[in-house]
Amino acid sequence: MSVLQQLLSECIRSPEQLREPLHLSDGEVAHLKTIADQYPICIPPYYLRLIESDWQHDPIRRLCIPDPLESSTDGHKDTSGEGDNTVVVGMQHKYRQTALVLTTNQCSMYCRHCFRKRMVGSNADEIAHHIGEMVAYVASHPEIDNVLLSGGDALINENERLRQYLEAFSGIAHLDYIRIGTRVPVVLPQRILRDHALLELLERYNRRKQIIIVTHFNHPHELTQEARCAVQALLGIGCPVRNQTVLLKGINDDPRVLSELMNGLTSAGVLPYYLFQCRPAMGVKHQFQVPLLKGQRIVDEAKKDMNGQAKQFRYVMSHMTGKIEILGRPDGEEMLFKYHQAKYERDASRFFSMKLAEDQCWLPEKIP
Ligand code: SF4
Repeated sequence: MSVLQQLLSECIRSPEQLREPLHLSDGEVAHLKTIADQYPICIPPYYLRLIESDWQHDPIRRLCIPDPLESSTDGHKDTSGEGDNTVVVGMQHKYRQTALVLTTNQCSMYCRHCFRKRMVGSNADEIAHHIGEMVAYVASHPEIDNVLLSGGDALINENERLRQYLEAFSGIAHLDYIRIGTRVPVVLPQRILRDHALLELLERYNRRKQIIIVTHFNHPHELTQEARCAVQALLGIGCPVRNQTVLLKGINDDPRVLSELMNGLTSAGVLPYYLFQCRPAMGVKHQFQVPLLKGQRIVDEAKKDMNGQAKQFRYVMSHMTGKIEILGRPDGEEMLFKYHQAKYERDASRFFSMKLAEDQCWLPEKIP
């Protein structure tokens, strides 16, 4: 059994296993089962131990344990047009320079706020199978200068599968770097700390093509000693580690929590990269979305307590038409936005402004 298989075999996958550690009643277990039938549970014991109390609102608990609001059918399954951007099964090409690969639908934890809830742990229809077809696509598109290996969690691929991806893409001369999207440093750092073959593999291919790890810390409580050591191990082999956070109601929608997280990331050697507006995904929006106006106020307030490194992130939303930066309200009225990445050439770097309702959490499909 590989280190990965061993670690995954220890994960909690049934609500019954949560009864004792979370002191759940029969009714609560039954309710969790109903939700888990639709959106699976997977929690590494390490991550479960980060829950500090029986308090229902413990941020770590809310990130890994289903809430009744998750059964809401309001929202969308594909909020940013992933289906339309698919060029080869498992590969999306939305932004000119980037190809995104859904390498797996498996994760070491199924985050309750995941925008790919439609597939993680359940539906494998959108997953990449034929590396050769994807390589041929990238090779014939010289404008693509980077590939993002995502999922699911790209580090939940066995080392051999990962090697195949790295071997294939590192051989394409016009790629500048390969990114690996993973929550493993956050939820299962032991995958990095115990699997020396994984580090050797990354180090070897990092010499051929720059590998950047893009991870996903959402709360300061996730910045444990183990997580910091996993980050240090990745930095030690020459892979920069960057972080994407999602702004989440009840988790980090507090300026003090957000500044503590971003400053903590920089102290761990992780560069804060994006703060994402939570998407209107089915099973997610009612539980976690923060209105845009409130989000902007939180970010402005939090930045007062952040060092220069910590405040390098951009507050953005992944809209159907592109990655849009939420800049602020210079006139105190309309919110100013700017396309950071555009699906259509005509939108590249374009500014626009819009008056927002106080409770508005997303933009319409048609942007003015
Ligand atoms: S690890 Fe990433 S892909 Fe997997 S459930 Fe969490 S957010 Fe979604």
